[in-house]
Amino acid sequence: MTEKLYELDSYCRSFAAVVEECRPMDGGYMVRLDRTAFFPEGGGQAADTGRLGDAAVLDVQIVDGEIWHYTDKPLVTEESVQGALDWTVRFSRMQHHTAEHIICGLAHRHYGYENVGFHLGSEDVTLDLSGELTREQLDALEEEANAIVHANVAVTAAIPDPAQLAQITYRSKKEKELTGPVRLVTIDGVDCCACCAPHVARTGEIGVIKLLDFLRYKGGVRIHLLCGAAALVDYRLRYTQTAAAAAAMSVKQVDFTPAFARLVAERDSLRLALKESHRRIADLQAAAVEPTDRPVYLLGADWDAETLRRIVNRLSERCGGICAAFSGEDGAYQYVVGGKADLPAFGKRLNAALNGRGGGSPRQIQGRVQATAKEIEAFFAELSAAE
Ligand SMILES: [Zn+2]
Repeated sequence: MTEKLYELDSYCRSFAAVVEECRPMDGGYMVRLDRTAFFPEGGGQAADTGRLGDAAVLDVQIVDGEIWHYTDKPLVTEESVQGALDWTVRFSRMQHHTAEHIICGLAHRHYGYENVGFHLGSEDVTLDLSGELTREQLDALEEEANAIVHANVAVTAAIPDPAQLAQITYRSKKEKELTGPVRLVTIDGVDCCACCAPHVARTGEIGVIKLLDFLRYKGGVRIHLLCGAAALVDYRLRYTQTAAAAAAMSVKQVDFTPAFARLVAERDSLRLALKESHRRIADLQAAAVEPTDRPVYLLGADWDAETLRRIVNRLSERCGGICAAFSGEDGAYQYVVGGKADLPAFGKRLNAALNGRGGGSPRQIQGRVQATAKEIEAFFAELSAAE
């Protein structure tokens, strides 16, 4: 069995080991050592990465109870090799994992909720609780958790013997029955939880715990969180974005939210006003068409579907034949056609002549044509001449 250095000392970032086995596998090699500081994927936490000699360690997995390092190069069996972890990544995971214990410990103490899921990957960290919480309750948890960070409480891991273990109250994942020795991670006065992953030695090392978005999930909540340097990177990004948005609106950053709400309200009322003026223009243009029983059409650049229908309805009130409206630019016009005629037949003719698609009811048809304004004009001129 490979000796688990990460269980004894979570700060072990480089170590010497002997290669016990190296097997080729699809796209690389799998290596077994006599001892390792590489944490294999487990309990929701992704595997450590790093180097074994010249080889890159891309993944670490437990297969049939044995720890295997997946490398890009082969290693020589029975030779000694120097291992080194990607420490920035590993330390960040230790911060997040310890924070998860604090949050789950507090949620358990205050609400009796269990931790029913945890994901600690490269992009995102989430934890799932068995019951629902509001933003206010999460804010309170976050505040209390950060007070524990500031108090710089000791975090220890130990494997008590079965008699001792029976006397200890601790949290554990309910869905999996624990077998064999149980490793307990204790945060003094805060939480005690069965866990095999590496943690920081004192809570102060977490730096900060920030609970971000949360959503209802399987009868409970899924919470996204960030700690330490990752939280700082996130803060910097959000600060930069808020600063840029506030500057663009010429307001102070603290006034950003109400200013943005005003901007959105203003945009909405401008949209309504624009729609109203489009309507008026459409009415005026339709009113300017001389009443006739011949086919008539109007052509615009920025009429939406509603405006097109309105124009066609207005034209139909004044004219006795085909009434059409087009909007768009050369090569791409949207159309609506109404009036007193066999519209499905007319639609087929229009689509055939102007490279179009569309259809509708006997009362109104709509679609698109890949034609120019000149081609539309020529089509209607031919139509009028034929009548
Ligand atoms: Zn843990």
